[in-house]
Order: sequence, then structure tokens, then C-alpha cells
Amino acid sequence: MNFNSFSFHPAVVKGVAEAGYETPTPIQSKAIPEVLKGRDVMGLAQTGTGKTAAFALPILNRLVDGPRGRAAALVVAPTRELAEQIHDAIRALGRHTRLCSAVVYGGVGINPQIQALKRADIVVGCPGRLLDHLGRGTVDLSRLDVLVLDEADQMFDMGFFPDIRRILSHIPAKNRQTLLFSATMPKAIRCLANDVLRNPVTVQI
Ligand code: AMP
Repeated sequence: MNFNSFSFHPAVVKGVAEAGYETPTPIQSKAIPEVLKGRDVMGLAQTGTGKTAAFALPILNRLVDGPRGRAAALVVAPTRELAEQIHDAIRALGRHTRLCSAVVYGGVGINPQIQALKRADIVVGCPGRLLDHLGRGTVDLSRLDVLVLDEADQMFDMGFFPDIRRILSHIPAKNRQTLLFSATMPKAIRCLANDVLRNPVTVQI
């Protein structure tokens, strides 16, 4: 299998080629077709497996021809390092799509984030600062198409699930595509998956 089998938009194909990706990793081969179909996905995969591109590429592909200037996709991640990595990957893979990504996390000034959020099509963030922006009204998730919860088991271990639930209350469930990634599948993750995923397909590597 190669990246041509996914029939990505030419702008996405260009980003993949420039990133130097030739062959999809196993999680990408399994998850990308399901995400492209619009399915909710429970992905069991660890860091280093290529899971970022497994959700980033179909998101870029979905949004590339759509209307701009609203938060259409949100990726929630447990740490600022991971959020930065995801944001960087989206920027690199999406550099020919003209889609804008903004990254938000605590411990740094909020004003540059507020500016970046104004034109973001894709928002990547850690739970606490996302809630802060939601409280201030500086991010609007009411027209979100795709939600990704990345490293959900880490977010549970770090005590973020109450924050995740609060973030979820700002996102309409209707027509939302949700992707949940986790390295492990303890009971707390199964419960969350039950609540947030609709008729999901599980991909495992
Ligand atoms: P991730 O698991 O998403 O953090 O990705 C781990 C590393 O693999 C990152 O440095 C990616 O840029 C790289 N990567 C992801 N997918 C591919 C691919 N299909 N071919 C080569 N490298 C990849």
C-alpha cells in the first residue's frame, strides 16, 4: 500500500511527499480509510507509530475544500510537548492546504493564542487552557466537525477527564466525527469511548 491508495486531495499528497513519507505505517493503513469514510474510530496505538498523521491527514483532506475561518477540528492532547508536536505535524503535512492550525496550552501568554484562534481551522490544545479559552469566549467549538482525543489514557492518568467532559459540553454531538486514541484500554477509557463514540470501528496495531 502507498499513500496514493487513499485518493487524497493533491494539496495533501504534496504535503505527505514533502514530509518524506512513502509507505503508510500500520496504524495509518488501518485508520485512514475509516476516518475518510467519516467513521468514529477507537485507535489503539502508542506514540512513535505514526498515529498523528493517521488522524491529521484525513482531517486536512476533509477540510481542504471546505469553508474557512471557524474551528472545524479540535485535537485534545495531555501535554504541551505533544500538543506542539501535533501542531507542527499538521502545519508540515498541511502546508499546501492553506488551512490554519493554532496550538493552546498553559504556562505561556494567552494573547498570542487568542490572535491565532481567530483564524484557526484546526485547534490543538491541552484541556486546562482550552477550558480557559472557552470560558473567555475566545474559541468557539459550536461548529466543530471533528474531535480527536489523543493519548486518552495519559489524560485520564493526569486527572483531565472532568476537564474533557466540560470541553465536550461545548461541542455539539450531532454530526460530529470523533477519534479516540489510547495506548491502553482500561475501564475509564472504555467508558469514555462509550459516551463519545458513535458506532465506532476499533483499529489496533
Ligand atoms: P507519531 O507516532 O505520530 O508521533 O510519529 C512518529 C514519527 O514517525 C514522526 O517523526 C513522524 O514524522 C514519522 N512518520 C509518521 N508516519 C510516517 C510514514 N508513513 N513514513 C515515515 N515516517 C512517518
